[in-house]
Amino acid sequence: MLAEHMGMCNGMRKAVKLAEETAEMYRGNGGVYMLGPIAHNPHVMAYFKEKGVVKVDSIDEIRAEAGTVIIRAHGVPDSVKKSAAERGMNVVDATCNLVLRSKDIAKMLENEKYKVVIYGEKKHPEIIGIAGNLADPLIIEDLDQARSLSLYKTMGLIAQTTSMPEKYAEIQKELRAHCECLRIEDTICMATQNRQDSGRKTAERAELMLVVGDASSSNSMNLLKACKEVNEYTFMVSDASGLKPNYFKGIKKIGLTASASSPEWVINGIVNALRGM
Ligand code: SF4
Repeated sequence: MLAEHMGMCNGMRKAVKLAEETAEMYRGNGGVYMLGPIAHNPHVMAYFKEKGVVKVDSIDEIRAEAGTVIIRAHGVPDSVKKSAAERGMNVVDATCNLVLRSKDIAKMLENEKYKVVIYGEKKHPEIIGIAGNLADPLIIEDLDQARSLSLYKTMGLIAQTTSMPEKYAEIQKELRAHCECLRIEDTICMATQNRQDSGRKTAERAELMLVVGDASSSNSMNLLKACKEVNEYTFMVSDASGLKPNYFKGIKKIGLTASASSPEWVINGIVNALRGM
């Protein structure tokens, strides 16, 4: 049983396509660099390595000033793009439109004098990119951190695009007690919600639920969590080699979903391996 919505989202597809075209076009022209992984998926990264794209964690690692640097789907602070352009690099921005929207909303809240609160993972590139454009945002990762916030007159709240809506609702409820006026912005992306909702539905009907994804990916981990909520017998697999025979003993109904950063060829490999079992 395959989940109705699964696999690479539009934002990732567009970023991967742009990176492919960039690798093709600029390969011999000072080199092509990727600032952080374009998708949190080892198979996608291996694919680009084969195409000659070099992954770096900072533009300081790029020696060739005439090189091309690809900005990942999760985005970076605007200052990083500016600095790369000032060094003479060709900047190709593959930031997802929904992440750009979140950045704009956060900036607008700050300009309107709200204390900006970001619900998300402090170390996630999307959050680093959004927070890096703001003067002094508060970043909270969970309800406990929300509870520990001081009192403010006004707060403007956004969430990481891959957050779980139920958790975001709990944060909203808590923050109402921390300010006189709370402005809530819905920045969770539909692709994430659809995958979590249809993943849950499939997991409910399955005896064994498989989530294709990677532990380094926030949307994979949240999809795994969503499926586990309704079916404890849920596992994450990165590719067909992760299908362990002991998972399947006495199992007749297998459900499958895939995170927004999982490429089609990996999903197909797993589906084919399951059909051959
Ligand atoms: S999960 Fe949503 S926000 Fe993230 S890249 Fe995909 S479409 Fe964009």
